[in-house]
Amino acid sequence: MSAKILVVDDNPINLKLVSDVLEFEGHDILKAVDAEAAQIVLAATLPDLILMDIALPGMDGLTLTRKLKADERTRHVRIVALTAFAMKGDDQKALGAGCDGYITKPIDTRKFPAQVATYLEDRPIHSDEQKI
Ligand SMILES: [Mg+2]
Repeated sequence: MSAKILVVDDNPINLKLVSDVLEFEGHDILKAVDAEAAQIVLAATLPDLILMDIALPGMDGLTLTRKLKADERTRHVRIVALTAFAMKGDDQKALGAGCDGYITKPIDTRKFPAQVATYLEDRPIHSDEQKI
């Protein structure tokens, strides 16, 4: 299933890796390096899913998530946080901010497409998948 996915990450290596993996899967990828750029993209198009880095310069990813979830136009767009494995508590903060789930970084490029796919489909999930 091909989807339009917005990837928000200020780290160019992460942004490229995530985008390349998902483009290879056939997804249509939009990229943003910070919250401001993400909002410009979102003003023009609504993606099926946003992969949201939490630590961003300027407005952080959780603040942007709260903003998008409070906006009638964008509230239904699924948002999955990309949380650094080392940052304890980021997962709960992400869910608290309104994220639909989270995927820990560094991503496992073999598993990542399937992890993302769980957020693109309304299907029962396995207990080892990080979806709420
Ligand atoms: Mg970052």
